[in-house]
Amino acid sequence: MKRTNKVLLIYTGGTIGMGRNPLTGALEPLDFNHLSESMPEMKYVDTNIDVYQFTPPIDSSDMSPRMWAQLVRIVAERYDEYDGFVILHGTDTMAYTASALSFMLGNLTKPVILTGSQLPMGQLRTDGKENVLTSIELASCYKPEGYPRIPEVCIYFNGHLLRGNRSTKIAADGFNAFDSFNYAHLCDAGVNFNFHDHHILKPDYSRFLEPHYAMDNNVIVFSLFPGISEHIVHNIVEVPELRGIVMRSFGSGNAPQKAWMLKCLRSAVDRGVTIVNISQCISGKVAMTRYDTGYHLQSAGVISGYDSTVEAAVTKLMYLQGKYSDPHIIRTMMSKSLVGEITL
Ligand code: ASP
Repeated sequence: MKRTNKVLLIYTGGTIGMGRNPLTGALEPLDFNHLSESMPEMKYVDTNIDVYQFTPPIDSSDMSPRMWAQLVRIVAERYDEYDGFVILHGTDTMAYTASALSFMLGNLTKPVILTGSQLPMGQLRTDGKENVLTSIELASCYKPEGYPRIPEVCIYFNGHLLRGNRSTKIAADGFNAFDSFNYAHLCDAGVNFNFHDHHILKPDYSRFLEPHYAMDNNVIVFSLFPGISEHIVHNIVEVPELRGIVMRSFGSGNAPQKAWMLKCLRSAVDRGVTIVNISQCISGKVAMTRYDTGYHLQSAGVISGYDSTVEAAVTKLMYLQGKYSDPHIIRTMMSKSLVGEITL
């Protein structure tokens, strides 16, 4: 693997590059030139940095599978030119993008690090500078044997490098905006980098990148709550285009034992819908045989999402549905760890 000492910085938008609209006072995306003006330190970084800018930059609430495919294309077309890729992204949907890219960038052997900030770059107390500079350094880290140190899609934020498809946004205001509750940090960055190599993926470096572009978004997430209405669940589950449901259940994967609920779910499964059971808890995993209620779900054909985040479950379904038409294959693949997104 040839080292190039170059990192590609892909700027998609988000708070990091936002400025205040003088008329409304609200934050809105600015041109990247604004970002580089606010960060003269970039000139002193050892690595050569090229920039690719989304036009127009977006608030990440507008992120979409089409833009994920665009990101995949940008990385795939320039894969050999760079040691790694840093994606500047709004924090709101960063964990979705990181999860989606982890599935779409098949056989990834180089770092793809997403970062952003809670305060815009131009503001004095911005967290953006440290996040960007450290991400660039991490994206160009190599092992002594000559291989990239972090060959996976990650989120770097506030001193922590997290596996992308294990991450969740946890704070709307605080600088410590992300964590991965069901997986160890890949690296903690203090005065020195403390890599936890044992938790970092070990790919076959001889394989070529296999980019995937098709995502099928005929998916819904629904959260259970006491008192959930039969009529509403029935109508959601019966939507003809629906191919996948991420069901956020109670505790270790439990749901109301009402006969109508199980009937609704069973009939969707029989129509070929994949129903994935994940927990509403922020940590821990689904164990559908622990309680009778979970057991009934399993008998209705609902499959376990193990300790998946909602972001990973949704994007994995979109990815598998984009790739396969047979629901049996989708269900089998959902139950496997494709890129370290679940613990079996
Ligand atoms: N709304 C912004 C976004 O996600 C928030 C941020 O960047 O932190 O684009």
